This record gives sequence, structure tokens and C-alpha cells, in this order.
Amino acid sequence: MIKRLANPQAASNWCFVQHTNGKKIGYVPTMGALHRGHFSLVERSVHENDITCSSIFVNPLQFSQHTDLENYPRDLEKDTALLQRAGCDMVYTGTLAEFFPDVADVHANQAMLAHPISTVMEGLEGEFRPGHLPGVSAIVERLFSTVGACTAYFGEKDFQQTLVVAELAKQVGPSIQIVVCPTVREVSGLAMSSRNQRLSSEQLEVAAKLYHSLCSAQKAWQTGVRTISKLQAVMHDELTDNRICVEYATVRDPQNWSVNYQAGETLQRARALVAAYIGQVRLIDNLRLD
Ligand code: AMP
Repeated sequence: MIKRLANPQAASNWCFVQHTNGKKIGYVPTMGALHRGHFSLVERSVHENDITCSSIFVNPLQFSQHTDLENYPRDLEKDTALLQRAGCDMVYTGTLAEFFPDVADVHANQAMLAHPISTVMEGLEGEFRPGHLPGVSAIVERLFSTVGACTAYFGEKDFQQTLVVAELAKQVGPSIQIVVCPTVREVSGLAMSSRNQRLSSEQLEVAAKLYHSLCSAQKAWQTGVRTISKLQAVMHDELTDNRICVEYATVRDPQNWSVNYQAGETLQRARALVAAYIGQVRLIDNLRLD
């Protein structure tokens, strides 16, 4: 039977006992509304560790729009049952105040809670969702300190987030290891996301174009195209549908994230990344090109 714990303190105590018993913990942080993408992380953790735990917490600090936070799908009972089926041993949740018991007014002091993470927060999600990545870094640091030494599993779908989390883990020290897992997709290619629940069947079809745009950039790369502006143009061509409102469709060198390349320059390593609205729903996706 999966252990359900209602707050971070109880989870911390439970993990302490597991560590004392010499158990190797795998950890999958989530915001719930679980799908096969999440379960791929849980399954990998179950395979690689003695014990797997997960958390379900819709972190208000990483939402810049109140309606987005309110509309985020939540079903703790169903998610817990699914985690149990996937082999997870413990799931915990909590409130913002319980995660930050030392901070009197978490929202007012939000800016202070972000971690000094260098350039990987710059651009893309950092530009279009100000406060999002600092909010992620603040909560992930608390999630890590709740669980303690562990291997934590994250999805490549949130690519920039994995860069932030990897840097945070480096700052915390060797007790936290990060594993980045491949993106799980629908048959159409659409990256699985909790937000897909909010799309109509027609919108789901349109949303698959995000992935098609990444594949077109990959094909162009395979035929030798290396110029940033050309790769971007290939992506935008695929996204010319008035039901898609593109925020960015671009390429970056993941190892030189912040370098401000000019459009005419070329890359030797590249990841294509896209963010767009389908109706009211914001989706992101990415694909390695090299
Ligand atoms: P979320 O609940 O959206 O915060 O996601 C929790 C974890 O699941 C994050 O590490 C995500 O990157 C990962 N994840 C979300 N969607 C997918 C997917 N389609 N494939 C693989 N991992 C995913």
C-alpha cells in the first residue's frame, strides 16, 4: 500500500527512516494530473532504487497568471491510486506555508527565495514567464531538503527547467543526483502534458504541430542547415496556423545557453524549443537537433 503523507515534515521523517535503514531513494516531484510522462519517471525510479517517493504540489510560486494556477487540473485521489499502481512507495503533499515555515509571508518574499542560478534562467521561459523559473528553483530546493539524499527524476520536456534543477542540485551537493528522462508523446507526436486535458479534440490535433515544427528543424539540421535564422524559419513555417499563437520557436546551444547569438550565426550543437498558446492553453516542447 502506498504511504500518503499530508505535509513535508511527515515526509521528511519517513525519508529519514528509509535513509537510516540504508535504502536508496528515488524521487519524482510532480504537480499532479498525472499521465504517462510522469509514470515513465516513476517506473525508471522504481527500477533504479530501493524506494520511490513522489510529491504532488501545485506550486503557486511558479505561476505568473492567477487563472492558470486556478485552472490547473487537480485530482489527488486518482493520482495517488495511479502512483500506487506504478510502484511508488510514498507520496506527499503540503501547503505553501508548510514548505516555507521559516518565511512569514511567502508571496511577499518570493523574490528572496529564488536561488542564485546563473545564466540558464535567461531567455525563453525566463523571458516569457518572469518569476516562473525562480519559483521552480525555490520549491525544488525545499522538495530536495524534505527528501534528503536521493536520485531525482525530471522530464526533458521541460528542458530549461532541467538546466535550472541540475545547477541547483550541483549547489546542494553530491547527495542529490539528477536523471533527465525522455519526453513521452501521444501517437500524434504531441508531448504529454497535464495541460492537454484542457484542449478540445480539434485543439489536440492543432497542438501536434508544435512537435512537427521541431521535427522539421531536425530534418533541416540533418540536411546540413546550421544557421539559426534558417532553422527558426523552418519552425515558423510549420506553425503558420491562426489557431497557434507562438511565443518562441527557436534554437539554442544547450551548453552555451545565454550566448546571445545573432540570427545569421551558426550552431554546432542545438536544441529546438517552442512555446505557444492553443486557445487559452500554453504548451512547450523541445527536441535535440544534433
Ligand atoms: P509537472 O507535473 O508538469 O510539474 O511535471 C513533473 C515532471 O514530469 C517534470 O519533471 C516534467 O518534466 C515531467 N514530465 C511532464 N510531462 C512529461 C512528458 N510528456 N514526458 C516525460 N516527462 C514529463
